[in-house]
Amino acid sequence: MQKEKIVPAQKLVKTNNVEQSIDPLRDGISSLELVRVSGSDVDVVNAARVSYGKRIDKVDERDEKLIGFLMKHKHTSPFEHNQFSFRIKAPLFVARQWMRHRMNSYNEISYRYVKAPLEFYVPPKWRNQDVKNKQASVGSFDNDKFKQQYQQAIDNAVKTYEALLDQGLCRELARGLLPMCTYTQFIFTCNLHSLMNFLRLRLHAGAQYEIRMFAQALFVLAKPHFPISLGQWQKVFGDNLELDQDLFTEGFNKTAQ
Ligand SMILES: Cc1cc2nc3c(=O)[nH]c(=O)nc-3n(C[C@H](O)[C@H](O)[C@H](O)COP(=O)(O)OP(=O)(O)OC[C@H]3O[C@@H](n4cnc5c(N)ncnc54)[C@H](O)[C@@H]3O)c2cc1C
Repeated sequence: MQKEKIVPAQKLVKTNNVEQSIDPLRDGISSLELVRVSGSDVDVVNAARVSYGKRIDKVDERDEKLIGFLMKHKHTSPFEHNQFSFRIKAPLFVARQWMRHRMNSYNEISYRYVKAPLEFYVPPKWRNQDVKNKQASVGSFDNDKFKQQYQQAIDNAVKTYEALLDQGLCRELARGLLPMCTYTQFIFTCNLHSLMNFLRLRLHAGAQYEIRMFAQALFVLAKPHFPISLGQWQKVFGDNLELDQDLFTEGFNKTAQ
């Protein structure tokens, strides 16, 4: 498979309630916000060193080596004493892939309770189906006629959805005709162990481009809080992820100051 470059996530905002936010699909609609985080590399070390009744306040070189050892030998439980909460706005098909990761907590907007905001992901770059690898896409799909049909199908769905609601059809049935590219919102809470599992699977070149962009954004927002653990993670797993390391590091430096 051709090595695809991971491009840096572009948008980073700081507000009072939301620590940082990125637009992973760069369409002005998608978003990943880090709402809350607890714990640090110190907690990882303390969880490992409690076996010997020891406690530290600051990570030193020995502790860094210890974290590297834990990572390499899959001693994963010390990475569980912490928590991240993210608020995500993503197409439904990305959310479906995301929620297969069961060792996390989720809450999602309900289009039974509210009318769908009618925002849709229209890919800025279209890809062809790979004929050899059933789950992969390759190259560039250049057919303006069919791209227009994609947009028309969305427009028709919107028109019918609104007409049915106007006629009094319940939201829970009317939503059935919204396409998979409709945006949804959800809250995702995980610990670092589970986050690293997500990153390993969803930063892999075999994962769909769109969820890969979210995975990269997760990494960009999470790394400043666990620089040593995620640095070691990158050392152990980075080579298998077919990431463009320069761009990846560059993207991280540019956005997560
Ligand atoms: C490229 C790609 C393609 C995929 N294609 C498909 C597909 O075609 N169809 C499909 O259904 N899914 C597909 N998946 C989803 C995949 O099978 C996993 O459900 C998903 O990646 C979540 O991984 P996980 O189970 O490790 O994560 P989590 O659900 O967060 O689980 C974390 C870990 O906990 C343990 N665990 C969790 N639940 C159980 C359990 N019930 N029993 C024992 N141990 C458990 C496992 O060790 C697991 O690794 C795909 C995933 C990827 C990355």
